[in-house]
Amino acid sequence: MRTQRQVVDYSLQKRAVLRELLAGRVGTYDVCDASPYLKNAARFHGEPTDRRCPICRSENLTLVHYIYGDELKQSAGQARTLTELPVLAMTLREFQVFVVEVCLGCDWNHLVEQYLLGRDGLTGDSDGASEQDAAGAEGAGRRRREAQR
Ligand SMILES: [Zn+2]
Repeated sequence: MRTQRQVVDYSLQKRAVLRELLAGRVGTYDVCDASPYLKNAARFHGEPTDRRCPICRSENLTLVHYIYGDELKQSAGQARTLTELPVLAMTLREFQVFVVEVCLGCDWNHLVEQYLLGRDGLTGDSDGASEQDAAGAEGAGRRRREAQR
């Protein structure tokens, strides 16, 4: 997606969990604990993949995209389909996306990645500093105009 930025990849953490599981240091009941909410989100808003579940190897994983951010108001924390994200990214300045993989067969679930989307990413510098500078300059200009009166 065009405005995607600040991507955090959690595949290392996932591999670590799977290693722990193989070594018997954690049980499947510890990692296959998808809540009914997460499973519903996967059913209704999930993105099917052709990747097999690493635990049961009988179902394909589903990706769920959760969105967070002040601009979302009451929609914050809800799941969205992948096709809805570019539309939101053009409407909102900035929001966070958390991608969770879920297996509807054995309830395995793990955070895959997180990233930011939104129009702020179109400017080129997404750190927000330039925008603050612009606002500051504007404020200074206004103060100067007021001083001249
Ligand atoms: Zn599974």
